[in-house]
Amino acid sequence: TADGAAILELRDLKRHFGGVKAVDGVSLTVRAGAVHGLIGPNGSGKSTLVNVVSGLYTPSSGEMTLRGRPLPAGSLFQTARTGVARTFQNLQLFVGLTALENVMVALQGVYRAPLPLVLLGLGRAEERRAQADALALLDFVGLADQARTPARDLTYGAQRFLEIARALARRPEVLILDEPAAGLAHPDVVKQVELIRRIHQRGITVVLIEHHMDVVTSLCSTVTALDGGRPIAEGTPDEVKRNPRVVEAYLGN
Ligand code: ADP
Ligand code: MG
Repeated sequence: TADGAAILELRDLKRHFGGVKAVDGVSLTVRAGAVHGLIGPNGSGKSTLVNVVSGLYTPSSGEMTLRGRPLPAGSLFQTARTGVARTFQNLQLFVGLTALENVMVALQGVYRAPLPLVLLGLGRAEERRAQADALALLDFVGLADQARTPARDLTYGAQRFLEIARALARRPEVLILDEPAAGLAHPDVVKQVELIRRIHQRGITVVLIEHHMDVVTSLCSTVTALDGGRPIAEGTPDEVKRNPRVVEAYLGN
């Protein structure tokens, strides 16, 4: 898909939980080659939107397309195969497996299933190739030195980078990052901004949910602000930051 063309399109997307209108009519166009920011106060529906788009939840109604084709609904695995991968706000790692094994499992296309057994199903040559690919990804996110460390023994910051490596293992066209900098110390935030820039340079379209406005400003070409499950503003980071509805949404939070 050419840079600037619509790649991910959402039309009047809704996801309600009983009476809770978590996502309540989101129409949104993400353009190929963009780093598209998604901001909004806590509870504004950002994670739910990602959960629907990535296939974790089925939508209540609405349409979502990737390159003009309907995205599968309600299957993380199917959605990842079409080219949309995501990280989780609450990390989803196999804590007993090493960093390398975590990426290898992701390369096998197994989502959130405690099945290190898939590793046993690989032939020798295939396993070596998977290891090399996984190591290259760990190197890309700055974790090559810790390939053999169990995920539970990594620092919290390193676990966040491992989560990104696992999402990249799915070779996404669109990578959705749900608050990847949450809880990170400043030096790790700086490293992560640099990593997201390199991901973008690889030609991957990024949707970034982020609270740090300086991070949003330095990375994003376009920002959409949500409140109450609906978009309330869209534009450049500076335009959106200054938008009175956005200012009010944050003050009222
Ligand atoms: P954000 O990520 O912007 O902080 P969320 O998408 O997590 O917001 O939440 C939006 C609203 O939907 C909140 O009111 C939240 O409590 C509700 N919500 C999210 N997930 C569920 C769920 N699985 N069941 C019921 N309510 C949910
Ligand atoms: Mg959230």
